[in-house]
Amino acid sequence: MLIAAGGFWSWQEYRRANQFRGVTLRIGVEHNPPTYDWSEQKGATGFAVDVMNEAARRAGVTLEWVYCERGSRVALESRFIDMWPAGYYRPGEYPALHQTRPWGQDQHAFVFDKGRMEEAPENLGGVNVAVVNRMAPLALARRLFPKARLVPAPSRRDVLRTMCVGAADVSFMDMRTVEGMLLDRPEQCREKTLQVKPLPEFTDPTSIFAWKDFGPVADVLRDRIDDMAADGTLMRFADRWLSFASSDVRHLLGLQEQARQLRWLGAVCLVMALAIGLMTWLIAKLRSARAGADRARQLQAEFLANVSHEIRTPMNGVLGTADLLLETVDNAEMREQVETIRESAYGQLELLNQILDQSKIDSGLLLLETTPFSPRKLVEQVEKTFLPMARRKGVELRAVVEGDAPALVQGDGLRIRQVLTNLVNNAIKFTKEGSVEIGLRVEGGGTMVTLLFTVSDTGIGIPRELQGSIFEKFRQVDASTTRKYGGTGLGLSISRQLVRLMGGELTLESEPGQGSRFGFQVQLPVARSAAPEATAAPVKGQMLTGLVVLVVEDNVVNQKVAAGLLKRLGATVELAANGVEAVTKCREKEYDVVLMDCHMPEMDGYAATMEIRKMDGAVRHLPIVALTAGVSGEERLKAMQAGMDGFLAKPVNREELASTLAALPRRDVPAE
Ligand code: ADP
Repeated sequence: MLIAAGGFWSWQEYRRANQFRGVTLRIGVEHNPPTYDWSEQKGATGFAVDVMNEAARRAGVTLEWVYCERGSRVALESRFIDMWPAGYYRPGEYPALHQTRPWGQDQHAFVFDKGRMEEAPENLGGVNVAVVNRMAPLALARRLFPKARLVPAPSRRDVLRTMCVGAADVSFMDMRTVEGMLLDRPEQCREKTLQVKPLPEFTDPTSIFAWKDFGPVADVLRDRIDDMAADGTLMRFADRWLSFASSDVRHLLGLQEQARQLRWLGAVCLVMALAIGLMTWLIAKLRSARAGADRARQLQAEFLANVSHEIRTPMNGVLGTADLLLETVDNAEMREQVETIRESAYGQLELLNQILDQSKIDSGLLLLETTPFSPRKLVEQVEKTFLPMARRKGVELRAVVEGDAPALVQGDGLRIRQVLTNLVNNAIKFTKEGSVEIGLRVEGGGTMVTLLFTVSDTGIGIPRELQGSIFEKFRQVDASTTRKYGGTGLGLSISRQLVRLMGGELTLESEPGQGSRFGFQVQLPVARSAAPEATAAPVKGQMLTGLVVLVVEDNVVNQKVAAGLLKRLGATVELAANGVEAVTKCREKEYDVVLMDCHMPEMDGYAATMEIRKMDGAVRHLPIVALTAGVSGEERLKAMQAGMDGFLAKPVNREELASTLAALPRRDVPAE
């Protein structure tokens, strides 16, 4: 980009420098050596003439030199010429003319006759001062010496002569004229002792002047003078024409240096402006990309929540109905078939969970939750869950807790449980005989503890060459493993990512044929308030006897499942098909608890809960438990914010339902 900008700039410069090739201009001179001079034989000569000719040659412009006896102003005003090589006007004095950047400077001086006066008087009060009869020098002299009497001389050469013949006491002229004059004195001055008194405080910058329409050409010529100063040409002309180191040239070189510095500064500013522009553009692009990505993530999150909800709702129907059937069917063969339906549905649910988790991890949507949990109980629960599976396979399963485990720690117990569940499930799956051990070692104490979980088995082990890649998505030991053992190859990948999200690392040691040992560690704060954990009471027969439950659910199958499970637990059930019905029923009748679906037509569960919480009387404290297929952390939070007391995720099983409802405060429940 910078190279392109540099290239564009150079091309523009080239075009600018060459835009007036072939143009012819009439440019004026008068007698004022050594700056410029005119003779019939030689035409225009002098320092400024050489400089302008060289500048014109470089720009491809042709100059026609015109002798202007009456000076620059008259010649320009009459449009006798287009341009004047070097002159000074005060700003705004001559608005019809274009004035380039200065390329020299006029310095002025007094010249007087030593024989006539010792010293030129300070303010020249009453003194006769000879000045060339040109508007600019006259105006200048008038401005500088208001008390003097000015004696106009017809030409620059006549200024000195005027003084030498006694018509003036002092002559006032520019330094270059003085220089020329001293080299070639007028006749009348030859015998005089002339004294030059330079007036450095009265210096004026000189520029090229041109009619406004030729201003751009004049500027291009002026730029070429810069080039000449840079390559030494200008100094060569000065050496040729000017007898003492010309302040013009020094001044010009100073200007040249300034211009160069300015150009550098300009270039640096340009580069910085470009860089800033580029950065601003990049930031704007990043912002919009981020906004786009945020929106896409939001959409994906909504999509995942919807998919999860839509699959869980019918799954709740299948599993709930299977649970109910299992309790009614006595025939062993039929029971086995129902068991198959149940297990297949659980398998499918597990798969759904894995796919959802993986997509959440991939899109950065998986957030950890922090709640108090007991690490010891967590290990024991996982052991308890897998005991039947281990027993069926004839594998011994045990849990070993070492160290002083705190009663409660703060962390995402559900996710730790998910990792352990996956590891133990694999361990039992890939172990034919021997044992599987779930280990927990607690290190540290005080406010933080490190929990080291291990799952070791005496199973088939993992080939050494695959041990490094087994945590990759979809990776399994071999294709036949999949057919023999099932699975998606997502479990370990998800587990490792969950452990990493918790700040730990999942490790593996395995000896093929001997067994495997997976381990991970997490550092968690110890929970201060040892609030009693809602312990799941063992489900005993009809433990909800006498409980009047309002089931709010729009899906008819799920209504039946919830009602069936509750009735089996001894509860009395009433139904409402949406939030509006639920609110009306709660107003009319006293219930012990409401099982509230969250997503329903007309009025959803959150709104219905808020309505109930606004009612007068005891009903506003009625226990309300969400029973929903929306299982994300956000949905849990929403349920809590709406004022619900508990949360059950679909598909719900009998045990969870019973223990959650049993733990709620009861009015008066008849003894079982
Ligand atoms: P899957 O759903 O296939 O079990 P995982 O990611 O949990 O997916 O495991 C990937 C593969 O790692 C398994 O298919 C199996 O080949 C291997 N594996 C995992 N755990 C063990 C284990 N304890 N013993 C032997 N092989 C294992």
